[in-house]
Amino acid sequence: MMGGMGGSDGDRKGTAMLRRAGTVAALGLPYWGVSVAAAPGASALLGRWVLYRGTPDQGLALTFDDGPDPEYTPAFLDALGDRRATFFVLGERVRRWPELTRRLVNEGHEVACHGDSHRHLAAMGPRRTEVDLRRAHASIAEVTGRAPRFYRPPYGVFNLAAWTAAPRLGMRRTLWSAWAKDWRRRATPQLIAARSLAGAQPGAILLLHDADGSPGAPARTLQALPAILEGIRRRGIELVTLSDLASGEPGASHSGRSSPSSGTG
Ligand SMILES: [Zn+2]
Repeated sequence: MMGGMGGSDGDRKGTAMLRRAGTVAALGLPYWGVSVAAAPGASALLGRWVLYRGTPDQGLALTFDDGPDPEYTPAFLDALGDRRATFFVLGERVRRWPELTRRLVNEGHEVACHGDSHRHLAAMGPRRTEVDLRRAHASIAEVTGRAPRFYRPPYGVFNLAAWTAAPRLGMRRTLWSAWAKDWRRRATPQLIAARSLAGAQPGAILLLHDADGSPGAPARTLQALPAILEGIRRRGIELVTLSDLASGEPGASHSGRSSPSSGTG
């Protein structure tokens, strides 16, 4: 069944590591992925298999999870203006709001895959996981005309099926190097901006949310956004899409979106 997987040596080692991690998850620690993402040194350990950050000669990738959201996403787009970001969208929301999803692409942003339903992968078996990823991937490709190139699991937690399915679908496993914990009830706009700027370095992947979280959370992130953008600008860091970051081109101002490999598969 896995015959099509021409995985590299690194991928096989990563899979073995995830299998062990999956055992931990089965024992009742389903937040392994989040703790890995946040733990010091985790990116050094898993950086070969998971995209956590670019290199210090690159720009910063702003990423927004859980949308598109008809109430908030348009306001985020207005606030971003001509600055580029990457939106990790949910397949079910893409099918519900296709026009809004197309607006992301039309305004120069990258659309990446956050799964179909935002169900925690620790609660999903291999078959359902595979179906979830395939549905989301297909919906994004159909609606935007471009296959997504990056996959970030809900809550930052991979299960083994998602770990192997994402690269088979042409998507790079992606987490983040900095987050603002902006979904929390106590996250004020000031706190969100401060936490974001604490992690705003060249090559960083910053995680924010344009939907969901505690009541009103996206509104607080939206309020914080001008200070975040201004802080990044003052440091002279360019904003890039994840494709730019992954292409390894320092401060690439063009987008990898037009490369042949990023067409609709
Ligand atoms: Zn999410």
